[in-house]
Amino acid sequence: MIEFKHVFKKYTNDIEAASDFSIKIDQGEFVYVVGPSGAGKSTFIKMMYREEKPTSGQIKINEFELDKIKGHEIPYLRRELGIVFQDFKLLPKMTVFENVAYALQVIEKQPTEIQQRVKRVLDLVGLADKADAFPNQLSGGEQQRIAIARAIANQPGIVIADEPTGNLDPDTAGGIMDILEEINQQGTTVVMATHNSGIVNQRKHRVIEIEDGHIIRDQRKGGFSKNE
Ligand code: ADP
Ligand code: ADP
Repeated sequence: MIEFKHVFKKYTNDIEAASDFSIKIDQGEFVYVVGPSGAGKSTFIKMMYREEKPTSGQIKINEFELDKIKGHEIPYLRRELGIVFQDFKLLPKMTVFENVAYALQVIEKQPTEIQQRVKRVLDLVGLADKADAFPNQLSGGEQQRIAIARAIANQPGIVIADEPTGNLDPDTAGGIMDILEEINQQGTTVVMATHNSGIVNQRKHRVIEIEDGHIIRDQRKGGFSKNE
C-alpha cells in the first residue's frame, strides 16, 4: 500500500514539484504516472523510496511511515521496493548473474537460495542463457530486463519504474511491459512514470496525471491524455 496525505515538496530553488499530493494505491494495482517533462513525476516517485523527502505531509509505504522513519530503517523500506530506472543502472564489471545476485547478497541470503532466486527471475525475464554475459554485451532491452530481474529478485511487494521504456524501441518496450504486467498479475504493485502514450493507451491501467506539481487527474483505466 502506498499512501500520500497532503504531501508538498519544495526544492531549495523554490520550485514546488509536489503541491498537496493525496493519493492511495492499493496492493496489486498497476498505475501509470504521466505528465510533461518537469511536471513532478520523478519527484513523486523518488519520495516513495526516500530519495527525496517531502517538505510537509505524510507518506506511508506498507507499514513504514516515512515521516517517522529513522536512517537505519531506510534499507528495510527499500527491501520492500523494487526500483527500475530509464538508464538501467547495471554494474558494468559484474556479470548478469552477479548483478542480480548482488541485491540478495547485500541482504545476506544463503548462496543456494541466491542461486535459485537468480535463476527464477532470469527465467521470468527470458534471459537465463545470458547469466554469464556482461551488461555491455546485451541490447538495451535485454539490459532493462536484467534490471527488472534485479528489482524483483527480493520479491518486493511494490515495483517502481521511472521511464523504464524511455531508451527502448517500441517492440522492445512492449517486451518490458509484458514482464511488468506479468509481475503485476502475480500481485505486485507497479507504479510506472512514462512518456509513452502508445503503451498507456494500449494497455489500460490507472492513470495519475501530474502537471506543474499538481495531480490533475486520477483515472481508473485512463488514457495518456484525458479523453483517450
Ligand atoms: P518530471 O519527472 O515530471 O520530469 P521532476 O520531478 O524531475 O519532473 O521535476 C519537477 C520540477 O522540480 C522541475 O521543475 C525540476 O526542474 C525541479 N527539480 C527536480 N529535482 C530538483 C532538484 N534536485 N533541485 C531543484 N529542482 C529540482
Ligand atoms: P537490439 O536490436 O535489441 O538493439 P542488439 O542489436 O543490440 O539488439 O543485440 C542483438 C543481440 O546481440 C542481443 O542478443 C545481444 O545480447 C547481442 N549483442 C549485442 N552486442 C553484443 C556484444 N558486444 N557482444 C555480444 N553480444 C552482443
